[in-house]
Amino acid sequence: MIIILRDSAKDEQVDELIDRLNKLDVKANLVEGVHQRIITLIGDTTKIDMDSVQAMEIVEQVKRVQEPYKKANRRFHPDDTVIDVKGRKLGGGTLNIIAGPCSVETEEQLITTAVAVKEAGATMLRGGAFKPRTSPYAFQGLGAEGIRLLIEARKITGLPIVTEIMDLKDIDLFADVDVIQVGARNMQNFTLLKELGHCDKPILLKRGLSSTLQELLMSAEYIMAGGNEKVILCERGIRTFEPKTRNTLDLSAVPLLKYHSHLPVVIDPSHATGIAALVEPMSLAAVASGCDALEIEVHRDPKNAWSDGAQSLTPEAFSKTMEKIKALAEFCGRPVDKN
Ligand code: PEP
Ligand code: MN
Repeated sequence: MIIILRDSAKDEQVDELIDRLNKLDVKANLVEGVHQRIITLIGDTTKIDMDSVQAMEIVEQVKRVQEPYKKANRRFHPDDTVIDVKGRKLGGGTLNIIAGPCSVETEEQLITTAVAVKEAGATMLRGGAFKPRTSPYAFQGLGAEGIRLLIEARKITGLPIVTEIMDLKDIDLFADVDVIQVGARNMQNFTLLKELGHCDKPILLKRGLSSTLQELLMSAEYIMAGGNEKVILCERGIRTFEPKTRNTLDLSAVPLLKYHSHLPVVIDPSHATGIAALVEPMSLAAVASGCDALEIEVHRDPKNAWSDGAQSLTPEAFSKTMEKIKALAEFCGRPVDKN
C-alpha cells in the first residue's frame, strides 16, 4: 500500500501517521521525492482500513499495491488447491461434471435424472432443495424433503451431492450434503459466508449477478478467514445489456481467477445462458478455457420442469454433450474425473 501525502502535511503530522501505522504490524517508510512525499507500507495491509486513511487531512491518495485478499491469493499459495469430494478431485488436473435438475421436484424425477447423468459420465449430482426464485409465487423448493431425496439419489448412484443453502437456520439439514452451494444472490450475504467459514464442507460459491471478480474473491476470503479453505469459485454469467441470453458468460474469469487465486473454478453454462442450445458450445469453450468443473442443469422432461426448463438439457442431449466434453477434456490434458 502507498499513501501519497498532501504538500501541506506538516512533519509532525507525518510522524504521527507513521507511528500509528507501525503499530498495525506493518513497516511504514517515508519516501521524500522532489515534488511529493509518499509513505510505503510493507507487510500484511489487509487489516488497514483504506477509507479511514483516505479521510485524513494530510492524505492526498491511498493505493493498494497488493490485492486485499490473502488466503484466496495465489501469491501466498502458489500451488492449486485440490478439494477432495468423495474421491473426486476438484482442482487436481481432472474435469468434474456436476449435473442434475435445477430443482428437486419428485423422487421419480430426481432418481431418473440422477441415474441418467451418472450413466453419461457426470461425477457429481446437483439439485436445488431451497430455491431462490424471483417471484414469491414460483416453486420455492421441497426444502428438507429435497435434501432427503438427494441423499437417496446418492445411495443409488454413488454420486456426491451439491445443493444450495439460502438461510443459516437450515444449516443442520446440510450435515450429510457433500458440497454446499452459495447461490449468486447470496454471494455477499456476509453473515452466511462467515458461518460457512466454520464448517468443514466444500463450499461452491457462485459469482453475484453484478459482482466483480475481486468481490467474488473477497467473498471467498470471508469463508476462508473463518478457517474453511475448501472454496470452489463459480462463474455463472453476469448481468449485461444483452437481452438475448439470460446472462453473459464471462469466460475470461477462468484464466483470470486461476491467475489470481489457487482455488478451483467451475463454469455454469446453464444459468449463464438460459438457453439449452447454448449449453453444449459454452461447455466446450469452458473446458478449453481451463476450468476445473462444469455445473449443468439436466431434466428428464425440460418442458415440464418446475424451474429453469428452458436451459435444461434432456438426458439424451446431456449424454451427447458429455461425449464431446470427454473428448475435448482428454485433448486438453484434464480428463473427466471418475464417476
Ligand atoms: C442454481 O444453481 O440453482 C442457481 C439458483 O444458480 P444461481 O445462484 O447461479 O442463479
Ligand atoms: Mn436453475
